[in-house]
Amino acid sequence: MAQAVKRLFPAVRVAIGPAIEDGFYYDFAKGEPFAPEDLVKVEEVMREIAKADHPFERQEMSREDAIRFFRERDEPFKVEILEGIAAPRVSLYRQGDFIDLCRGPHVASTGHVKHFKLLSSSGAYWRGDERNPMLQRIYGTAWLTKDELDKHLWRLEEAKKRDHRKLGRELDLFELHDVSPGAPFWLPNGWTVVRELERFVREALDARGYQEISTPILVNKRLYEQSGHWDYYRENMFMVEVEEQLFSLKPMNCPESTLVYRHALRSYRDLPLRFADMGQLHRNERSGTLTGLLRVRQFMQDDAHIYCRPDQLQDEITAMLELVRDWYKTFMLEAYFKLSTRPEKSLGTDAQWAAAERTLQDALRAKGLAFDLNPGDGTFYGPKIDVDVQDALGRRWQNATIQVDFQQPERFGLEYIDSDGQPKRPVMVHRAILGSFERFVGVLIEHYAGAFPTWLAPVQARVLPISEKHVEYARTVHARLRAARLRAELDDRNEKLGYRIRDAQVRKVPYMLVVGAREAENGTVSLRHRTGDDLGAVPIDRVLADLAREIAARDAGLTVGRS
Ligand code: ZN
Repeated sequence: MAQAVKRLFPAVRVAIGPAIEDGFYYDFAKGEPFAPEDLVKVEEVMREIAKADHPFERQEMSREDAIRFFRERDEPFKVEILEGIAAPRVSLYRQGDFIDLCRGPHVASTGHVKHFKLLSSSGAYWRGDERNPMLQRIYGTAWLTKDELDKHLWRLEEAKKRDHRKLGRELDLFELHDVSPGAPFWLPNGWTVVRELERFVREALDARGYQEISTPILVNKRLYEQSGHWDYYRENMFMVEVEEQLFSLKPMNCPESTLVYRHALRSYRDLPLRFADMGQLHRNERSGTLTGLLRVRQFMQDDAHIYCRPDQLQDEITAMLELVRDWYKTFMLEAYFKLSTRPEKSLGTDAQWAAAERTLQDALRAKGLAFDLNPGDGTFYGPKIDVDVQDALGRRWQNATIQVDFQQPERFGLEYIDSDGQPKRPVMVHRAILGSFERFVGVLIEHYAGAFPTWLAPVQARVLPISEKHVEYARTVHARLRAARLRAELDDRNEKLGYRIRDAQVRKVPYMLVVGAREAENGTVSLRHRTGDDLGAVPIDRVLADLAREIAARDAGLTVGRS
């Protein structure tokens, strides 16, 4: 691509062009931005270069010779890159009339480069620093086969269609306003999804011996000085001055949960204590990094802190791994586990770290879960398991985290009285499984392309009278759905039936119950799925029973009328 750009725009200077996930980019010093037509021309020249099948020839030089070489060619960015390289020798690659600094390796010749596409161009500062000159970056993608390229382009198109900000608007889920950057305004539809997720979380935690607590949002900085957040996390915290004292909006629930732990004298028999706290959190992310629901300043996590004896740690971790596995299965998201071990800068003893790392590893192995090891990537206070989920487009998102913590119990002097009558330190585990509800809803919107399973769908069914003569029966059907606590709407607008069916499909409503004279007479509805499937006449009692079963099971598919 750089060769093609130089051929078309000889005045352009080349900067840097690395391979990135699924493709590559190159930055060019060029006065004017590239126009879309320019990219078409560049791609044409790229095809000519590929067809010419120039061999890629590797050439090694001393760093000084390379600097001289690029200085003669008036490529100042290459000179600057070379000046920052410590190695005495560097490699260059030549193809036809073009030569570039590169570590390699390369394919044998340009003829191997067949399946590529330029995607976009945008401005980018040299070395990402806004004090440096603005360069023009072109993004592209390249694949081994046409099939892989086509699939990738389809995924990009599909990702654009599924963008949660776009669907969030179209489906009336949430809004963003610049009066509060990074904090969504939930509309009734979106808040319904959040409420259903909360209910899902609470039901599961109630059944597993968790106790929910609620702690203040506005907290004196004293607490964070004691927890260590003041030293390690202050730049991410919002400060508020009240009566000449400094308070912060809590960025995490942990320090406060230790106060709840200390509410009573704890015995070894009281442990484990599992405190869930779904409080509102605030973190001061830079405004430039905020992205829809995926990166926000205000959020709520399905957060919990477990206090246990060291001998209970493995069972607790195992139970959390089961939750991760089961919950993500509900959403048809595949989970990938990563174990992060002791970083260079960390608190705690070697023995504590070794034991905790072994415990996490044993728990993963005992559950038969494959995992990647991230050596040195733990937090300063303990090792952790992070979980990525893979969505319907094969993209990965980081959501769940399970973190062992030796520090907070130490800093807050937490104790329990052991069986020998002696005070001991409990182990603390922080864990969130869905992560932040905001981010998780963002992921779900894109994963489902807005078509939520029935239990999560803001509107679960719409009743459509064929004409105004059938409105009365439609009202009866609608009332029965509402009485069964289903989120149902009646669409008796004065529009053609076909229009109203399409509208329900666009709104991703799982079920349409079409009613006319025959249905009124037989106590049935004519059932349609949003997928376009027409199931014909189904007794209303059966629709109600099937819906209740599908929702209670939190089924991922549409099953009503099929059994
Ligand atoms: Zn925590």
